[in-house]
Amino acid sequence: MPWIDKKICTGCLMCVDECSVGAISMDEDTAFINESECIRCGVCHEVCSSDAVRHDGERIPEEVASNLAWATALLEHAYYLNDKKKQKELIDRLQRYFIKNKKVMEKTIERLENLQNTKYAD
Ligand code: SF4
Ligand code: SF4
Repeated sequence: MPWIDKKICTGCLMCVDECSVGAISMDEDTAFINESECIRCGVCHEVCSSDAVRHDGERIPEEVASNLAWATALLEHAYYLNDKKKQKELIDRLQRYFIKNKKVMEKTIERLENLQNTKYAD
């Protein structure tokens, strides 16, 4: 999912004009991508001469930090606080939750590869 770095965006409107599905609008002076409208065509990456349209992969550290902040907030909830056994059980549950998500992603990637090699092959 492309995203726009507001610190870099100059508000030139090029991506807004070129997005064929109208997924980009202005939020004050910078562009903003509506995730639910975006069809992942990549055109906004190509037309932005400021490199303000960024790739998903750059958000990995931010997303990991967000997951850890969530886990830490849970661990510090009154229900878990000062109870090592409950905290350990929670960490186990959270690990299982993220392992499940990883499996969903791996299976999805596998299915997409199959589609690429069958139904959508050249
Ligand atoms: S093309 Fe780039 S700089 Fe111009 S509005 Fe879009 S994101 Fe901002
Ligand atoms: S990837 Fe395509 S559809 Fe999505 S915001 Fe950019 S130009 Fe619009």
